Amino acid sequence: MYRQASIEKKETKKRKRREAGMLSEVYPGVSNITIQMKYVHKAAVPIIMDRTVNVFPTSYAYFHMECLVKGCEKGGYDLTPVIKKMLKKGSKADSGAMKCRGKNGSSPADHAEISYEINVKYKRKSASKKKK
Ligand SMILES: [Zn+2]
Repeated sequence: MYRQASIEKKETKKRKRREAGMLSEVYPGVSNITIQMKYVHKAAVPIIMDRTVNVFPTSYAYFHMECLVKGCEKGGYDLTPVIKKMLKKGSKADSGAMKCRGKNGSSPADHAEISYEINVKYKRKSASKKKK
């Protein structure tokens, strides 16, 4: 049972990634996105972990970060709306915080959060500078 659920979860994730498309296809003007995150797991002894994710044009434009708390159901952090907004505005940096809204057995809510910093590098617009 558990194994089956886990396979389904993986398949869903794969499908979502494919649906999101490649970064170069969705946002051709972006050359690189760096997402720096600090995970905080609320517990008797809090666990703090740093993670950096580099997104390249060949990566999927899918920015759902998983909750690292074991047993967390339907949790995680969806940075997709944040990044979409940044790319639309053409902003290069943004930061913020997000709480996991997943359920985790005995400790249902407020068990984990992240603070993030996102940096976007855009490609130079050389095409518009063509001389006649
Ligand atoms: Zn969680």
